[in-house]
Amino acid sequence: MNEWDNGVLVSVRSLSKDYVQRRPFTRAKFTIRALDSVNLTIRRGTTLALVGESGAGKSTLVRCLALIERPTAGEILWNDVNLLALKKKDLFAMRRQIQVIFQDPTSAMNPGMTAGEIIEEPLAIQGIGTGSERRQRVLQLMEQVGVPAKWANKLPMEFSGGQRQRLAIARALALEPKLLILDEALSNLDLVNQEMVLGLLRELQAAHALTYVHVVHDLRMVEDLADEVAVMYEGRIVEQRDARELFARAEHPYTLELLAAAPALESIVAARLVRDCR
Ligand code: ADP
Ligand code: MG
Repeated sequence: MNEWDNGVLVSVRSLSKDYVQRRPFTRAKFTIRALDSVNLTIRRGTTLALVGESGAGKSTLVRCLALIERPTAGEILWNDVNLLALKKKDLFAMRRQIQVIFQDPTSAMNPGMTAGEIIEEPLAIQGIGTGSERRQRVLQLMEQVGVPAKWANKLPMEFSGGQRQRLAIARALALEPKLLILDEALSNLDLVNQEMVLGLLRELQAAHALTYVHVVHDLRMVEDLADEVAVMYEGRIVEQRDARELFARAEHPYTLELLAAAPALESIVAARLVRDCR
C-alpha cells in the first residue's frame, strides 16, 4: 500500500531551517540550525502532539508547516504535492487549508477591529462571498465556538482569555482548513478553560474530520488530547509514536528524561495501573 492510501495527510521529509545571525560586537556571521532534517508524518483526521523543551524548534516547524516561513531544505508533501515547489498562486490557495493558532491570540488580532471583523478578515482576503454572506458566516462561526453572536461588535479586549481563544479558533475555521496547528494555544488558559476549549476542538474534529498538530508544553496533556506524539530535541524529531505507547515504550534518552521530569508522571502511571487492573 502506498502511504497516501494509508491516511497520511502531510509527510515532512528532511526538513531543515537555518537562521543566519551576526555576533553583537564582531558582526561575524553564524548559523543557528533550528530544524535539522526533520521527518514527520501527520495522519488525516488525527491529533499529533508535538512536545519538547523550549528552543527545540517546535515553533519553527509550525511556521514552516503553515507556509509562513520558508525552510532551507527538505520537502513538505501534502498528499503527493510538494508544497515548497508551488507557484505563488497555488501557494496562496494552499494557505487556506492550513491554519495556525498561536499562544497569544491577541497578537494576531488588530485591537481596533471588532470580533466580527477579525473573523471575517480571512474570508475577505481570500475574496469569499459577498459582504452580507460573510457576515452571516461570521455569526454562525461565533455560535459554533460558543461565543454569542450578539457580541460580534465588541473589541478583542472586551472578551476573556478563553473567549479570545475561541474567537481565534472561529477565525481559523472560517476558511474551512483541513489542518489546524495549535502552538501552545491553550497554555495561557486556566484548567477549566483548557478543558472547555479541548472539548470544543474534539467536537470540531469529529464534525469536520479535521487534522490537528498540537504543540504542548505539558506532557500530562498528551495522553488526553493526542493520537500520536512527536518528541523534538535540538531541531530534530527524535521519536514519533502512538500517544498511549509513549509512556510505556519511549526509547530516546531525551524522551525518557522528559518523561522523568514530568511532575505528575507518577500519578499518570498510577492511574494507568488502576485502570489496567480493573
Ligand atoms: P520552540 O518553539 O521549540 O521553543 P523555536 O522554534 O522558537 O523553538 O526556536 C528554535 C531555535 O531557533 C532557537 O534556538 C531559537 O533561538 C531559534 N530561532 C527561532 N526563530 C528565530 C529567528 N527568527 N531568528 C533567529 N533564530 C531563531
Ligand atoms: Mg515555541
